[in-house]
Amino acid sequence: MTATVFIMPCLRRKMSTEMMKDIYDLTKTELGERLTDMGERPYRAKQIFSWLHERGASSFDDMTDISKDLRKRLKEEFIFGGLFLDTVQISKLDGTRKYLFAMEDKALIEGVRMKYRDWSTACISSQAGCAMGCRFCASTISGLDRDMTAGEMAQEIYLMERDAGNNISNVVIMGSGEPLLNYDNLMRFIDIITDPDGKGISQRNITVSTCGIVPGIRRLAEENRNGGHLQINLAISLHAPNDEKRKKIMPVAEKYGMDELMDAARFYYEKTHRRLTFEYALMAGENDSEEDARELAGRLKGLNALVNLIPVNPVRESGFRRPERENCVSFKNKLENFGINGSIRRELGSDIDGACGQLRMRKGKKS
Ligand code: SAH
Repeated sequence: MTATVFIMPCLRRKMSTEMMKDIYDLTKTELGERLTDMGERPYRAKQIFSWLHERGASSFDDMTDISKDLRKRLKEEFIFGGLFLDTVQISKLDGTRKYLFAMEDKALIEGVRMKYRDWSTACISSQAGCAMGCRFCASTISGLDRDMTAGEMAQEIYLMERDAGNNISNVVIMGSGEPLLNYDNLMRFIDIITDPDGKGISQRNITVSTCGIVPGIRRLAEENRNGGHLQINLAISLHAPNDEKRKKIMPVAEKYGMDELMDAARFYYEKTHRRLTFEYALMAGENDSEEDARELAGRLKGLNALVNLIPVNPVRESGFRRPERENCVSFKNKLENFGINGSIRRELGSDIDGACGQLRMRKGKKS
C-alpha cells in the first residue's frame, strides 16, 4: 500500500529551494564543470558568469544570448540569487546608504555603501549576527545566526549597484560577522569577485577585517593565487595595547593572546609584504591615555603598520564614550611621536547607524 503525503505548495517550494544551490555561489570553474556535465560547451560558463557577476542580470531570462532550453534547465537546477533587498536608508549628511537584506531563509543582514569622489566602497557582512561578543559592537548582541555563503556576500555588492549605480570598486568585509570564522566561504567569495570574467575587483581593493583569529590569519598568509600570495589588505581589530585591557572588551583575547596575534601579523606581512592595518576604537578612559599610546606603539614597532583610529560609535547597550576630538588627535600625534602612523577615520553614515559596529540583523531598531 502506498501512503499519499500532501505537501502544502509553500512547503514544497521551501523543500525544493533548500535542495537547490544558488547559482551565484559557483566559481566560474565550477559553473564550467556543471555545464559540461549538462552537455554544454565550456564557453557558456564565461557567458553566464559574466551575466551574473558583471552584467547585472536580474533573472535567468535576462540572459538573452543563452538558449531558452538551457535557461529552463538552469531554472530547474539553481535558484537565481538568495539575497533580497529589504530597505535602504540614505544619510542626509553624506549620501552613505545602509541596506537591510533578507536571505532565502529570512535571516537578515546589513551592508553599507560609502560614496567617495568617483567611486564607492561596499562594506559587507560575512555572517548574519556574530559570535565574537566584542563589548562595544552592536552586531554581536543577538549572537550568531549563521554563516553567509559566498554567493550571498557577492550579491550584497550587486544589489547595492542595482540600487545606486555601478561604481563599487572597493570592498571591505567589515559588516557583521567574523570573516575568518567563515573561511572557506570568504575565499570562495574572493575568487568569485576578483574573477576578470565577472566583477573583476582587484585584490588590492579588498580589505578583510578580523578580530584576531590567529589560525585564520596564518592560513590567509599561506594562500596562493596565480602563483603568488594574496594581495588583499588585512585589518586587525586590536582596540587595546595589552592583553589585560583587551580581554575586558574582546572575549577573543582570552583565546588568542597579543604575542600570538602579533606573531601571526608579522608572519602575514613577511609572506605578503602588504601593509597591515590595526583598527583601534578610541574609548574615553579605557584605551586613550598617553601610556596606552606608548604601549601600543611598542607593540607595533617593526611591523609596517597603520593604526586606524575610530572614535567609538555609540551603541545603546554598551555605554562606551568617545573621547573629545582633540584627545583623538592628540592620541594620533603621540603614536606618531613613538614612530607609528595613525589616521583618524572619517565618519560616514552616522545619522543612519551605518558606522562601524552599528550594524545589526534586525529591522529599524535604533542603536
Ligand atoms: N569581526 C571583524 C569585522 C567586523 S567589525 C572584526 O572584528 O574586525 C568591523 C570593525 O568595526 C572592527 O574593527 C570592529 O572592532 C569595529 N567596531 C565594532 N564596533 C564598533 C564601535 N562601536 N565603534 C567603532 N568601531 C567599532
